[in-house]
Amino acid sequence: MSPAESAPAAAAEPPVDGAITQAGRDDTGSTAAAAVTANTGSAGATLDEVVLAQPRGFCAGVDRAIEIVERALARFGAPIHVRHEIVHNTYVVADLKAKGAIFIEDLDEVPPGATLVFSAHGVSKAVRAEAAARGFQVFDATCPLVTKVHVEVAKLAREGYEFIMIGHKGHPEVEGTMGQLTSGIHLVEDEADVSRVQLRDESRVAVVTQTTLSVDDTRAMLGAIKRRFPLVREPKQQDICYATQNRQDAVKLLAGGVDVVIVVGSPTSSNSNRLRELAERLGTPAYMIDNAGELQPAWLTGARRVGLTAGASAPELLVEKVIARLRELGALSVRKMGGVEEHIEFPLPLGLGDRAMAQAAADAAAAATARS
Ligand code: SF4
Repeated sequence: MSPAESAPAAAAEPPVDGAITQAGRDDTGSTAAAAVTANTGSAGATLDEVVLAQPRGFCAGVDRAIEIVERALARFGAPIHVRHEIVHNTYVVADLKAKGAIFIEDLDEVPPGATLVFSAHGVSKAVRAEAAARGFQVFDATCPLVTKVHVEVAKLAREGYEFIMIGHKGHPEVEGTMGQLTSGIHLVEDEADVSRVQLRDESRVAVVTQTTLSVDDTRAMLGAIKRRFPLVREPKQQDICYATQNRQDAVKLLAGGVDVVIVVGSPTSSNSNRLRELAERLGTPAYMIDNAGELQPAWLTGARRVGLTAGASAPELLVEKVIARLRELGALSVRKMGGVEEHIEFPLPLGLGDRAMAQAAADAAAAATARS
């Protein structure tokens, strides 16, 4: 199923491919009077155009995770317990709660015999073992790209490696990846952390990264690690996922051509935060909002063009509501930038997907185990 098909209440792409579509003042009715008037830049300029980043919003891992909860609800009925927010988005979590999902942090909160879904961020081996010991029916919504990191950590650990993980303390993906081992994995959030790392053997150390970090931040940290540990083994290819990379590349293209960037995403969403930071680092004021109601007209003062993007866990429906709000504030047109079209789909777990997809997932897992 495509991201659009599985998005909760997601609506169709606005008809804006390539060309400017005039929304017209008629679309906004009396609210057109609320158009933001520039007080900097061109004299008399008003908010004119909304430019949409491409790609933006749901990635394949988020799409799959939401679909797993929805399919579990359809198949087994409510409630379905989900460990941690399935993805970091307020709207998505509220929508699934309304459909019968119960979000928990501690497995003590799950009754015997319940169906449990692990979130897209992944879990530690201890959590996985505890869920099995308690006899829950488990469906694993860990993004396959996160699982790939887990498999790599397990494989290299068996070869005697220790790890330096670049990531944010307390983020569930970091807890899940670090929890693949009971020792020998060191979290670094900044260069000062790198200077404090103590290793058993500096010739057997590998780097892993949280998938949703800024590519630029990771590069700088990797440089610091290599200066301290010249023999460090770098990831074969950066663990930054395709979706994070594509959304950041789109913001790089977007930021230079607009006066302000709005990122749709929840405060807990790492990749959404990174998009906002990236735009700001490129010199464009940038704000992150969870929904259209958080958009402050003052941010648009002096702006003719507003760039709009969304983190990998934010549904397109929320982007459309922000566009509607920008039109209320005077935007006349909406234009979608050119950019990467994503067609990636991840297979569903056995027991929820169609047979072919589920078999492909089982084959991929068996192949990964055989390689490791
Ligand atoms: S952002 Fe990347 S790693 Fe995270 S769920 Fe999406 S595809 Fe997976």
